[in-house]
Amino acid sequence: MPVLFDRLCLVGLGLIGASIALAAREAGLVNTIVAVDADEGVCRRVGELGLADEITADAAAGAAGADCVIMCVPVGAIGSVAAQLGPALKPGAILSDVGSVKGVVLREGGPHVPAGVHFIPAHPVAGTEYSGPDAGLARLFRNRWCILTPPEGTEQAALDRLADFWRAMGANVEFMGADHHDLVLAITSHVPHLIAYNIVGTAADLEAVTQSEVIKFSAGGFRDFTRIAASDPTMWRDVFLNNKDAVLEMLGRFNEDLSALQRMIRWGDGDGLHALFTRTRAIRRGIIASGQETDAPDFGRQPGNAPKDS
Ligand code: NAP
Repeated sequence: MPVLFDRLCLVGLGLIGASIALAAREAGLVNTIVAVDADEGVCRRVGELGLADEITADAAAGAAGADCVIMCVPVGAIGSVAAQLGPALKPGAILSDVGSVKGVVLREGGPHVPAGVHFIPAHPVAGTEYSGPDAGLARLFRNRWCILTPPEGTEQAALDRLADFWRAMGANVEFMGADHHDLVLAITSHVPHLIAYNIVGTAADLEAVTQSEVIKFSAGGFRDFTRIAASDPTMWRDVFLNNKDAVLEMLGRFNEDLSALQRMIRWGDGDGLHALFTRTRAIRRGIIASGQETDAPDFGRQPGNAPKDS
């Protein structure tokens, strides 16, 4: 693959920023990687891990002269980060991000983007429950979707180049309006996280069951919820604060369906329960068939391999 950006600047070297650094380097897509992070300890670690050629805490200095700048910060920080970057961006550069909500990125980032700079928000639908530069994985985006939400009038050549960049890191690329993205992700990602946070919180607060029992007898279902509920608190706080309408809309539907399930249990409607569980099983089979999940039992976990202190 030819070099797509001579100078790539990544702002925020957490899980996603570090993964882009590793994947872009591995695929030979960039000559120079500039890392920007406000945290001194993170900057030191980025150096130790060899994630970047240049490291700075100054966003404007890092972005100066870059061909592509990607903001890898929580969505609540996009406005302030874009405000720092805006004046430093060179004409013809691409400014992008990786935030899990897209409407807010357009609204709060857009006004800081100078004329002549291509602003193309993006969301790689890939992640883990880990944070920070050590969590970065070169393979994170392989066979995952990256959704680009270009504002109207975006130059086709810039869009093609950013899409090529994501494809070269192994992602499949899809284009979507920001509002539609936020609605789709509300049901596929945001509400499931909220349910996980809620069920783990409820279990932790139960008076009749001790915390040690919750941990000791955690069955597969609960364990999978705890994995999701271990996701970064800042990132997820920002997702819910910034995708409020879509999440509330989907949560309304969810609550209605939950009430229907509650009624089926109360009235002993076994046929109703069985019919629903059969439909949902088909959805999982579809996800496995599309290569987005493993069909290994227990998500491929090795039996008996749990760490001693878990
Ligand atoms: P992370 O590992 O927690 O890293 C977050 C990075 O953002 C850190 O470098 C942090 O800097 C920086 N940051 C936090 N607050 C900031 C602020 N106010 N101003 C400037 N920088 C700030 O998070 P992540 O998982 O990489 O997530 C980054 C973005 O990717 C988020 O927008 C998230 O929605 C999106 N995303 C995440 C996933 C996922 O599964 N995790 C998947 C797809 C997209 P410090 O080092 O100084 O703390």
